[in-house]
Amino acid sequence: MRAWHVERPGPVTGHPLRLHNDDTAPRPGPGELLLRVLACGVCRTDLHVTEGDLPPHLPGVTPGHEVVGEVTELGEGAGRFETGDKAGAAWLRWTDNTCRYCRRQAENLCPASAYTGWDADGGYAEYMTVPAAYAHRLPPGYSDAELAPLLCAGIIGYRALQRAELPEGGRLGIYGFGGSAHLAAQVALARGATVHVMTRGEQARQLARELGAASVGDAADPPPEPLDAAILFAPVGDLVLPALAALDRGGTLSIAGIHLTDIPPLNYEKHLFQERQLRSVTSNTRADAREFLGLAAEHKLAVTVHPYPLDAADRALADLKAGRFDGAAVLIP
Ligand SMILES: [Zn+2]
Ligand SMILES: [Zn+2]
Repeated sequence: MRAWHVERPGPVTGHPLRLHNDDTAPRPGPGELLLRVLACGVCRTDLHVTEGDLPPHLPGVTPGHEVVGEVTELGEGAGRFETGDKAGAAWLRWTDNTCRYCRRQAENLCPASAYTGWDADGGYAEYMTVPAAYAHRLPPGYSDAELAPLLCAGIIGYRALQRAELPEGGRLGIYGFGGSAHLAAQVALARGATVHVMTRGEQARQLARELGAASVGDAADPPPEPLDAAILFAPVGDLVLPALAALDRGGTLSIAGIHLTDIPPLNYEKHLFQERQLRSVTSNTRADAREFLGLAAEHKLAVTVHPYPLDAADRALADLKAGRFDGAAVLIP
């Protein structure tokens, strides 16, 4: 089979990824499914793995953690799916189920957790394995390419929205409007929220208007009304200040990204007093994924995708880094 490997992590322009044409397809271990990959989304985290911003966990790993596949084989004792079923593999690949965090329904914080496309080979390939207990059932009504970005961008955006504790019919601010944000905005709008979007780039602003944002401003602009909740999707620590200042009394700001540049000093009166809160978001639980994919089944989300052939994975990553497209790139084997 064909599969991409991170040969030597480094800037994507130096071709750290290599395509192998004659890899042996993996065999499913106990409890695992073998997936024939139908589509694999290209996420910014794949860029971090490829460029070495995240320390290597598995030498020569195959990236990719937004994987839509067909189950072609079941390992010993693997349940929940049959051959021929469609299944999704996401970033969270495994947790120990026994630590203090797992026991209190916070498996996203499990110190022993393993991740698809970092600790184990992912979906930049024709086949991959996934533990059946961590594979996802996929909502109907979407193409394979549209389903892929739901599995990371969608799920993480949903967790960030939950962490922001938006009240019923509340006012939500969204800072940065890429793949994850445009899905979270649609969930909030479907729940009756008023959504204000602050972002650079006319294309992103146009998309925000089309999806139903009440106002659209520049990256650090004050929204036209105080916010009950806000989510920072842009990986820019400077924006924490205007986002906190825009919150109404008791409002919450959640930070969606895995990386953020340094946050400048806060002023207690201006940014935190009146019980405003600042929260991070770390990975997601399987329950988040189930809830989000359930919502996506009930309410058709508009997903902007840019298909690339599997052989062009390195070009897709370079285009992502350079910001050459809106929405999500998806590899199709
Ligand atoms: Zn655990
Ligand atoms: Zn991701």
